[in-house]
Amino acid sequence: MKILVINTGSSSIKYELFDMDNHLAMASGMAEKIGEDTSLIIHKRILPNGESAEKMEGVLIADHHEGMKRIVDLLVDPELGPIQDKSDISAIGHRVVHGGETFHSTTIIDEKVIAAIKENIPLAPLHNPPNLVGIEVARSVFPDATQVAVFDTAFHQTIPMKAFLYAIPFDMYRKNRVRRYGFHGTSHAYVAQRAADYMGQPLVELNLITIHLGNGASMAAVKLGKSVDTTMGMTPLAGLVMGTRSGDVDPALPFFMANHLGMSLRDIDEILNKDSGLKGLCGTNDMRDVIEKKNAGDDRARIALEVYAYRIKKYIGAYFAALGSLDVVVFTAGIGENAPYIRELSCSGLNGLGIEIDEERNYGTGSGIREISSQKSKVKVLVIPTDEELEIAQETKTVLQKTLME
Ligand code: ADP
Repeated sequence: MKILVINTGSSSIKYELFDMDNHLAMASGMAEKIGEDTSLIIHKRILPNGESAEKMEGVLIADHHEGMKRIVDLLVDPELGPIQDKSDISAIGHRVVHGGETFHSTTIIDEKVIAAIKENIPLAPLHNPPNLVGIEVARSVFPDATQVAVFDTAFHQTIPMKAFLYAIPFDMYRKNRVRRYGFHGTSHAYVAQRAADYMGQPLVELNLITIHLGNGASMAAVKLGKSVDTTMGMTPLAGLVMGTRSGDVDPALPFFMANHLGMSLRDIDEILNKDSGLKGLCGTNDMRDVIEKKNAGDDRARIALEVYAYRIKKYIGAYFAALGSLDVVVFTAGIGENAPYIRELSCSGLNGLGIEIDEERNYGTGSGIREISSQKSKVKVLVIPTDEELEIAQETKTVLQKTLME
């Protein structure tokens, strides 16, 4: 069974084609700068032996529809395409950012589902509209494939009310659905399951803290297979320090920025989302550069890393308390998988909680799942490469099989 995973942004379409009989990626790529005169497509064909061939083409892509048609051309290309005809694709799995309270799990897309994703636009005005464009375009280009929506928020719909309510007038929750939702759900779900596989225990018997550190970053407390708390909130701005996002700040900060610094709402939004985090603290948002600067003696980079890791450590403590007991801590995504210094700083001094990292293992290299806790650490600390696209493909396959059996 071939499943195409699509992640549509306002000017981009990312895609990955999987052969779900063996869970291997067959092709991946991205159409970028759609609607601009510098639009381009990068396409990669992946062979079963892991070898790959890549092509980059600068072509004018007027809109998402044209972009999707060009992607199909590449997927069926005699040299670069792994399939012969678009009808080989059984289903399209769409990443949809905000499912609000409507969606608790992966769902087959029909008119009602589209209407519900539209209803959730006020909660994710930047993300849900392009996701809807992706769905519309895929439905017209692949009329015979089943379209499936996988929501970033769905995994966190098990968070209890005491953890998702903000202490503001209750009507804002009841009427406007203002609450914590959380994001990166596919990644937290994927690495939690991989961790359970590694432990050789069912996920429903384990308590985990999953730490996703990419450009965006979030943590989840996963109790017996269910998310019970997460650091992002109604929007992805809350929680951890990120590349350019502030994470948690005093909620009165925007009033100070407006009243004393004369900033507009738009300026404040821009500063907290695009000019804060690592970038705000030390001038660069790329973790590799921040670590390089720190190693070269840059004090601002050093303190930025300390602020970054201290926030993670604080949430590990908080989630230990929320879970009651802890079996596994998982680090994942670009920084979590590749920055041993951040893992070391975040876990230092947590021996009291039974968390102890082994320096040699932490700084060692290797691919796949790696155990970096010491022999005597009560809690296992794992580095697990995330694969959100594969998780979307897997969830898509699961709902498809369920409907075929019904
Ligand atoms: P996204 O959220 O866009 O998917 P990624 O998961 O790819 O992001 O993570 C991007 C982050 O990972 C960047 O800050 C990048 O600097 C960091 N990163 C990637 N490789 C390394 C590395 N070897 N050491 C430190 N940080 C790294």
